[in-house]
Amino acid sequence: MTDRYAVIGNPIGHSKSPLIHKMFAAQTGQDISYEKIEAPLDGFADTIAQLRGEGYKGCNVTVPFKFEAYQLCKQLTGRARAAQAVNTLLFKDGEILGDNTDGAGLVADIEQNIGCKLLFKKVLLMGAGGAAYGVIWQLFNAGASIVVANRTLDKAQQLVAEFASYGTVFASSYEALNGKQFDVVVNATSSSLSNKLPPLPSGIFAPDALAYDMMYGKQTPFLKFAQKQGVTQLSDGLGMLVEQAAEAFFKWREVRPETAPVLAKLREVK
Ligand code: NDP
Repeated sequence: MTDRYAVIGNPIGHSKSPLIHKMFAAQTGQDISYEKIEAPLDGFADTIAQLRGEGYKGCNVTVPFKFEAYQLCKQLTGRARAAQAVNTLLFKDGEILGDNTDGAGLVADIEQNIGCKLLFKKVLLMGAGGAAYGVIWQLFNAGASIVVANRTLDKAQQLVAEFASYGTVFASSYEALNGKQFDVVVNATSSSLSNKLPPLPSGIFAPDALAYDMMYGKQTPFLKFAQKQGVTQLSDGLGMLVEQAAEAFFKWREVRPETAPVLAKLREVK
C-alpha cells in the first residue's frame, strides 16, 4: 500500500518538495505519495490531526508553522530541540515525532556538494529568525566558530545566549563587522525575498571565502555583492533544500537517496 506524506505551509504553491520527494521515491523504489497542503494560518494543528486520522505517515512543515510543529511533538530529536522548530514530522505508534533537518541540509550542501569543510572555519551567520535557529546547532557540530549578525541586535544576542554552551559564538550588529573577515558568510535573512542586501561592510570576505544565500531560485543582491567583492565561491540554497529533504526521506523510509541527480534535475528545470 502507498504510504502518504505531504508538506504543510501557507503559502505553499511554490514548493518544490513534492517534485524532490517523487524523484527520491522513483530512485529508491519506495512506494510513497507526497503532496502539498496549504493549512489555514489558524488551523495547523487541525490539519495535522486530520492527516493522522487519514493514515498519513509523516509530513514536512514550512513557513510559518515550524514553531507550532515543535509544540505539537511528543518526542524531539536533539537538533529539533536545539532549533526549537520542526520541519519534519513522523507519525508513528500513535505519537508525533519531530526533527529539524535544515541544519543538516545546509552543512551537507556546504561540505559535500560545494566541498568546503567547516572545521575551524569562521562563519558569519546573518539573521536571527527561524532559519538561523534551524541551522546554528549543526554549524557548531561541524566545528565552525560563529558570529551572528542581525538588524535587530537584541534577537542576535538572544540567539547567542541560547547557544553559547554549544561552542564559540558572538552576536554583532552589521556596523561592528567593519574590519572583520569570514571564511563562510551565510545569508539566513529573508532580505533576498524583498530584493534587499543586509548592510554588510565591504572587505567582509576572507580570501577563498564562500558566500551562501539560503534563498534559492534567483541571483540575489547578496550574491551579487559577494561577486563584486571578488568572491568566486557563490551558492544559493537549492542544494540545502534537496539535502534537508533527503534527510527527511531517510527519517521516514530508512533509505538514503542520492541527492546529486535530483539537484542537477532541479537546476535544469529552474
Ligand atoms: P524569519 O522571518 O524568521 O527571519 C527573518 C530574518 O531576516 C530576521 O533576522 C530579520 O531581521 C532579517 N531580515 C529581513 N529583512 C532584512 C534586511 N533587509 N536586512 C537585514 N536583515 C533582514 O525568516 P526565516 O528565518 O524563516 O527565513 C529566512 C530565509 O531563509 C528565507 O529567505 C527562506 O526562504 C530561507 N530558507 C531557506 C531554506 C532552504 O532550504 N534553502 C530553509 C529555510 C529557510 P530582524 O530580526 O531585524 O527583523
